[in-house]
Amino acid sequence: MKESAYNVYLLDEKEKKGLVFNTMKRSIVQIDDEVYNLIKDNQIDKIDQDVLDVLTKGNIVVDNNLNELDILKIMFCRIKFSTSSIGFTIIPTHVCNLACTYCYQGHGDVLSETMSQDVIRKTVEFIKKSAGGRRSLGINFYGGEPLLYPEVIFQVLKEVKAFADEHEMQFSTTFTSNGTLFTQEIVDRLKDYNYEVQITLCGPRAVHDTIRVDKKGRGTYERLMDVISLFRENDVKFHIRVDVDLDNYDTITSLLEDLKKRGFEGTYMGFCPIGKDICYTEIERESSEIDPASLARLSKLAHDMGFKTNPIYIHNFVEGCSALIDGFLAIDPHGDVYKCIAAPNYQEHRIGTLDAEGNLTNMNYESYCAWTLRDPLHIKECRECKFSPICGGGCALAAYSKNGSLLSPGCKDEELGEIVRTFIMLRYPELFEGCSYETILL
Ligand code: SF4
Ligand code: SF4
Repeated sequence: MKESAYNVYLLDEKEKKGLVFNTMKRSIVQIDDEVYNLIKDNQIDKIDQDVLDVLTKGNIVVDNNLNELDILKIMFCRIKFSTSSIGFTIIPTHVCNLACTYCYQGHGDVLSETMSQDVIRKTVEFIKKSAGGRRSLGINFYGGEPLLYPEVIFQVLKEVKAFADEHEMQFSTTFTSNGTLFTQEIVDRLKDYNYEVQITLCGPRAVHDTIRVDKKGRGTYERLMDVISLFRENDVKFHIRVDVDLDNYDTITSLLEDLKKRGFEGTYMGFCPIGKDICYTEIERESSEIDPASLARLSKLAHDMGFKTNPIYIHNFVEGCSALIDGFLAIDPHGDVYKCIAAPNYQEHRIGTLDAEGNLTNMNYESYCAWTLRDPLHIKECRECKFSPICGGGCALAAYSKNGSLLSPGCKDEELGEIVRTFIMLRYPELFEGCSYETILL
C-alpha cells in the first residue's frame, strides 16, 4: 500500500492527534501521531490492520499500483460527459440598471444588446432540440441585469417549462441578478418555475453603497434588504454572495451583524474574491485580491453567527464551473453561444451561433474543444496539486485572462489548506473538541 497523493494533514501537535482529508474521496479520518509517522515514513505495512482498513476505505492509503491520475481523469469525465442533465445560461440583455464600480461589463455600456424576438425564438428551439432524452433541464438567467426585460424571461420560461413538463424532465431555473428589480409581482409570476436567486452584497451599507450603485450613484443596500425580506416572506430560495477584497474585508463583520439584527439568520452566504474569479466579477482590472484563508475565516464567522455557509465553495470547484461540462452552454443576446457565461466579451471564445432553425452553426471547434476538454490533468501545476480533485484547475476564464491560455491554473497560490480545515470544522465540530489542528501539511 502507499499514501494517496491527495491527502491533506491537519495536526494538533499538543494533543498528538491528526486529521487526514482526502481531496479525491472527500473522506476524513482521525489518526494519532504514530499512524501519521508510519504513513509519512512509508511504513504502512506496520499499521494495525483495523486502522489500515479505515485508511483504505477513506482512500488515505491506496494500492501500490493504483494510478490516481487515471481515477481523477475518470472522475472528471464522468462529471463532464454525464447525459442526465442539461443546462443553459441565457443572457437576455447586457444592459444593467446599476453601475457597480468593478463591473467587467462596463455597466452595460461596453456590451449593451438585448435579445430580439428572433433570437428568443431561436434560443427556445435550440434548447428543445438539445434537451431531448435528459432527465433534468436547467435555465440560468444572467446579464447585464436579466430582470430589466422580464417579458423575455417569462416568454422563455413559459415555453421551456412546457417542453420540460411534456417530456417529464425535472425543471429548475436560477437568476444571477443584482436583485434590485425583484418585486411581489415578479415573485408571484415565478412561483411555478422552481427558481433560486443569487444576489450580491459588498459589505455593510456604508461600503456596499459606494460600490453597488445605480446609474445616478445611489446605493442599493436598503433596496436589497427589502428584497431579502420579500424573499423570506414568500419562501423564495435564495443565497447571498458577498464579494470581498482587501479593502472591504474588515467590514464584513458589520455586514453580518446588520443582517442578523434584521432577522436574516439562516440565510446561505458564499464569500467570493473580487477580481479573481468567477462568473460575474471583474476579471481584467487590478484589485486588491483576498487570499482563500481569509475567506475561510469569514465563512467560519458567518457560521458562528447563525448563517449557512460552505467554505469549500470559496475557491472554484469543478461542480461550480458549468463551462467545463459538455451539457452546459451560454447564449448571448445575439444568439452567439459560449461555454463560459462570462466570456461574451471575448469573441475568440465564441463556439458558434444559432441559425434561424435554432441549430448551432459556424462552429469554432478549437474553442469548443479547448473548453470542454480542459481539466487539471492537462495543466502542469494542477496535475501536481493536491487540490485538483476539488478545485478542477480553477476558473478557466480567469486563467485565460491572467496567462493568455485556458491551459493554465486559475489560482494564484495553493492556499487551500485553511479552507479544508474550516470546512471540516464546520461540518464536524465534534472533531475539534479539545483540538485545534493548527498545523496544515500538504
Ligand atoms: S470559467 Fe470561470 S467565469 Fe467561466 S463559468 Fe467557469 S468559473 Fe465562471
Ligand atoms: S494549482 Fe491552483 S488552480 Fe490548479 S488545482 Fe491546484 S489550486 Fe486549483
